[in-house]
Amino acid sequence: MVGAGPGGSATAYHLAKHGVDVLMVDKAVFPREKVCGDGLTPRGVRAIERMGIDPTEPGFTQIEALRTYGVDGVIIDLPWPTLRDFPRLGVVRTRYEFDNLLAERAVKAGARFLQGTEALAPVMEGSWVAGATLKEDGRQREVRARFVVAADGAPSRFAAHAGVRRDESRPLGIAARRYYRIPRPQEPVLEAFVNLRDEPSGGIMAGYGWIFPLGDGVVNVGAGLLNTFKRFKEISARKLMDYFIADLPPEWGITEENAISPILSGPIPMGMNRHPLAVPGMLLVGDAGGLTNPFNGEGIAYAIETGELAAELIADALARGRPAIAQMYPVLLRERYGRYYFVGRQWVRMIGHPRFMHFAVRHGFPRAALMRFALTFMANLTDGKDGGRKDRLMHAMVSLAPDS
Ligand SMILES: Cc1cc2nc3c(=O)[nH]c(=O)nc-3n(C[C@H](O)[C@H](O)[C@H](O)COP(=O)(O)OP(=O)(O)OC[C@H]3O[C@@H](n4cnc5c(N)ncnc54)[C@H](O)[C@@H]3O)c2cc1C
Repeated sequence: MVGAGPGGSATAYHLAKHGVDVLMVDKAVFPREKVCGDGLTPRGVRAIERMGIDPTEPGFTQIEALRTYGVDGVIIDLPWPTLRDFPRLGVVRTRYEFDNLLAERAVKAGARFLQGTEALAPVMEGSWVAGATLKEDGRQREVRARFVVAADGAPSRFAAHAGVRRDESRPLGIAARRYYRIPRPQEPVLEAFVNLRDEPSGGIMAGYGWIFPLGDGVVNVGAGLLNTFKRFKEISARKLMDYFIADLPPEWGITEENAISPILSGPIPMGMNRHPLAVPGMLLVGDAGGLTNPFNGEGIAYAIETGELAAELIADALARGRPAIAQMYPVLLRERYGRYYFVGRQWVRMIGHPRFMHFAVRHGFPRAALMRFALTFMANLTDGKDGGRKDRLMHAMVSLAPDS
């Protein structure tokens, strides 16, 4: 297992639960920071519950709704929908603590964990990935494995050595975040601002700002932008964050004096933007596979889910002595997310036009019923069937799309 973020830890946890001998390596020493909004929707909560984590335990801030800010002062609260397959709960927790908790779960399940250890490159036997060259305390050594999982995050340099490439036609986001301690009272809501104004065109940028509560007056404030936005190359994540903060009411206290961390930024690879998602002997999970949801930039849930799927296939392949079973992974990924991500890619292309985005926010936004539908769809809770009319409509939209 290369990488011990949510993707790596989830894969290691589920493999260890299947009785497989697992070695997880991470170049960082835990706990470590990860640039993130730190927010989990019900999809993410379901994923951590499957790792035996109780989202109501101390340390998690409980979230009941999404509060969205549009244009002309319109604000809409959207409580999580009631769905059979998802809890009505979101959570926020710093990645510093969250990722450490997940790695501990993997170790408790039986995985070995080497920290401060970088995986330099795959060990190849012909075209088969048969292990990795590790670097620890300046020394290099080779470790052999029957399967390798690349969970090395958005840059995914390790997987690149085995021929994995970014698909430039698929979307990518950039985002920045900073922590503040502010006097404003906290409510159990994720606040999303879809009103980032593009001054030159008068339209709205394809992205959003957020304020997520961490308790004790601390908030995670950030903003992200899609590369489908026309002037993407002219706007850095830091600049976007400046625009966003400048538009917030001054009495909220999102000021330089109240900042308690530097501004950090990072890429968000979306909509399966890496190919291939498996090479013989190696599977890619989470950001390494570009598996973030293009609708909302949520990646933690997908890193954990794809880790669990990879673990199931590898465990099955090992138990049956048939390595080819694991190579079914890309097919199953496409089956699970392909159509939904296809719709997401069309959506991010459309909202890349500031005038379309402005139209969508101005006319769609004030309609609460439409927004509730949009929340369920964009948070990909569409497979949480409630059996109703909306549910059937969402399934129809997704099932009409091609699966790549
Ligand atoms: C600003 C920002 C805000 C975001 N907000 C949210 C949010 O609120 N909610 C959400 O769900 N998602 C959010 N995301 C996306 C989310 O952070 C990622 O999707 C998620 O971290 C993916 O998990 P992962 O395990 O695949 O990769 P990562 O979390 O990046 O973990 C990869 C790990 O691999 C290790 N590693 C890398 N290379 C090597 C190597 N060669 N050898 C050994 N170890 C290696 C790294 O040290 C790291 O620990 C955000 C992203 C950004 C940039």
